[in-house]
Amino acid sequence: MTSNEITEISQLLSEGKKTVLISHANPDGDAVGSVLAMYAYLKKKEVDVEAILPDTIPSFYRWMECSDCVCAADRDQKKCEELLDNADLIFCLDFNAFGRVGELEDKLENSSAIKVLVDHHPEPSGKFDYMISDISVSSTAELVFRLIEAFGDIKLIDKAIAESIYTGIMTDTGSFNFNSEHAEMYEVIRLLVDRGVEPALIHQRVYDTFSESRMRLIGHCLLNKMVVMEDSHAAYIALSRKDLNKYNYKKGDTEGLVNYPLGIEGVVFAALFTEQDDLIKASFRSKGDFKANEFSADHFNGGGHMNAAGGKSSKSLEDTVKDFEKLVKDDYKTKLQDAKKKI
Ligand code: 5GP
Ligand code: MN
Repeated sequence: MTSNEITEISQLLSEGKKTVLISHANPDGDAVGSVLAMYAYLKKKEVDVEAILPDTIPSFYRWMECSDCVCAADRDQKKCEELLDNADLIFCLDFNAFGRVGELEDKLENSSAIKVLVDHHPEPSGKFDYMISDISVSSTAELVFRLIEAFGDIKLIDKAIAESIYTGIMTDTGSFNFNSEHAEMYEVIRLLVDRGVEPALIHQRVYDTFSESRMRLIGHCLLNKMVVMEDSHAAYIALSRKDLNKYNYKKGDTEGLVNYPLGIEGVVFAALFTEQDDLIKASFRSKGDFKANEFSADHFNGGGHMNAAGGKSSKSLEDTVKDFEKLVKDDYKTKLQDAKKKI
């Protein structure tokens, strides 16, 4: 972010513009944390601000301050659309292509508001007036911190804002596992802890609050659903509507599930396919230099980071799995074997 950009955005925020914050569908900890931290910060600055998410915040993030203030399009599409229609300034947080906001895509893309991108995914597409895009940082939440710092407002980061930022960083790094090699992130964490964040408590709130059925769904997946393609160093789980219903599926219940197969020695590429109402949602995770985002962009109409990507398929679950198996066996085996050798 250049100092000119910061001055101009700061100026826009001081002009009484109607400001809207929005993040991506199926919001993860970084989407929720970034929106809520920015929302609480802008409220403190007395900006006229509203927050929108395409889907309801999963229960295990709802302890965050201001989570009740977010308008979720899956509950009230009309209100979200009205907020976008009336906005003068829109912050797009943790996504970089308009298609990521689901049914709000057209309203967002065609809005005449000034659009500010704050994101850490590669290759932004879409028209933004300001682009704060940095793929070297852990998370969008870390960029929100940097933005507040650049505005000269670190003093306004209270415990609640610090907790939201911390949650974004913790979840997008798999608890400081991946995306966590740049040292500046730990300086941010230090300040957040200084402001009152209790890391163990946040971890418990996010990861130790499973319902019994969510835990049993994981058991079912690992025992009965996971397919390991040993020669190709890949593994996948495909979940039908029936599987999900049996385990009383709630949004967010499959978060993190795609990571489990990567825990098998030799597996460098894992996929999770879940049957949703009108499409199959795909999640991909990889180890080393196998590019999950390219794989997803080329075959599953998606994208993301090198080691964590998502996408979708309009075919049946069965055909989606067949396509995946064939691709992995026929087209990607060598790349996967190469990635394995380097680990
Ligand atoms: P997840 O598998 O958790 O849904 O997503 C993993 C990563 O890929 C996240 O960074 C997410 O933002 C990104 N992602 C998920 N689905 C899509 C998609 O359909 N398109 C693009 N471009 N990125 C996605
Ligand atoms: Mn993120």
